[in-house]
Amino acid sequence: MNILLLGSGGREHALAWKLAQSPLCTRLYAAPGNPGIAEQASCVTLDATDHAAVISFCETQGIGLVVVGPEAPLVDGLADSLRGAGLAVFGPSRAAARLEGSKGFTKDLCERAGIPTAKYVRVAREADALEALEGFGAPVVIKADGLAAGKGVTVAMTMDEAQEAVREIFSGRFGEAGAEAVIEEFLEGEEASFFALTDGSTIVPFGSAQDHKRVGEGDTGPNTGGMGAYSPAPVLTPELEGQAMTRIIAPTVKAMTDEGYPYSGVLYAGLMLTREGPKLIEYNCRFGDPECQVLMMRLGTDLVELVLACAQNRLGSVQPPRFSNETALTVVMAANGYPGTPEKDGRIDGIPVAERQGAKIFHAGTTLGPDGVLRASGGRVLNVTASGETVREAQERAYAAVDKVSFPSGFCRRDIGWREVAREES
Ligand code: ATP
Repeated sequence: MNILLLGSGGREHALAWKLAQSPLCTRLYAAPGNPGIAEQASCVTLDATDHAAVISFCETQGIGLVVVGPEAPLVDGLADSLRGAGLAVFGPSRAAARLEGSKGFTKDLCERAGIPTAKYVRVAREADALEALEGFGAPVVIKADGLAAGKGVTVAMTMDEAQEAVREIFSGRFGEAGAEAVIEEFLEGEEASFFALTDGSTIVPFGSAQDHKRVGEGDTGPNTGGMGAYSPAPVLTPELEGQAMTRIIAPTVKAMTDEGYPYSGVLYAGLMLTREGPKLIEYNCRFGDPECQVLMMRLGTDLVELVLACAQNRLGSVQPPRFSNETALTVVMAANGYPGTPEKDGRIDGIPVAERQGAKIFHAGTTLGPDGVLRASGGRVLNVTASGETVREAQERAYAAVDKVSFPSGFCRRDIGWREVAREES
């Protein structure tokens, strides 16, 4: 079968790597892809916002499955257009992608379905938001309703910060995404990511991970898209994972189906492990980046078979996913300046040597020049990923490979996995 993968980051490189391993995959296309993905796929130029162009490409190339990597095309309804044209697509409809695209929608759904999450108020006017803050007191969390590339959320430790965040949202800085806001209770605990695949009726767990959002070691400095991750997340014990499935994921999938917008694809739950058990912080309607990279390293089953079964509403008819018991850990190498203004065009050498250390390097933001030189083209540039019996072993292997990469205008955190390594060694 011919497959089209949409996206260009490290997440999509990991997906391409795994899709291409399947005996069901005849030819893999990626749009736009990147130089790493190009080792597994034919990279093509396609505008994902031009649904007719994507459909026409699929028809011409005999595409049997479309896998959508990022959230924006899903929230924009690309999956609906493709399904309307009779194509199999892995990813939710526009209505179902509201689980990520509208925080207010998700909070209301949680309330209706009795899903544990932070107490909240939805507000559409600055004055109402400021009044709602008084009811919560600090610390409090303020969120723009829509997609804001991770920048629409403020965890305010003081009322001044909270008021400032409200004013920022209603200043119009986030456009449509900030037309509404959610003010919510601050939850205390450790965060973990939990993934499930579903076709709207069958649900299968798809592993756990923990990421590192802050740019600096010891989880300091500004937030980023993620500086590294590992899977599984032992903090999400089998018992807590069971609770996440029965109290959060299953009722969500059921409510979505019952209310007329069945969810199909990967459901990624950001959880806070509180004293009262796991609570939902947020849903994403696609794989996490870089969490996907560590999940794909551990996945022992055929990814095409799974995502095709999801797309064709027959997930119950295939073997559930199996994962290696090893830990996979990924270190993000970023360009200097990230998450502010990353330095462009920095030269990268040594990837083959680094991979000979046993690591897999996924490309996140690279370009290959006509001179054959690989250069940085984004904030997050490479994801150096390795496995081990323990988090410590995976960490050592990943950094051994990092040290073989020459990227003078880049940097990485040297402590990815620190929490778990400390627990392992205590
Ligand atoms: P991203 O896209 O970066 O994952 P987002 O913009 O979709 O994030 P959330 O995941 O809802 O927003 O929130 C971002 C971060 O803020 C969370 O990972 C968590 O650390 C913190 N956070 C969000 N809600 C709460 C809460 N109720 N209590 C405590 N911390 C919270």
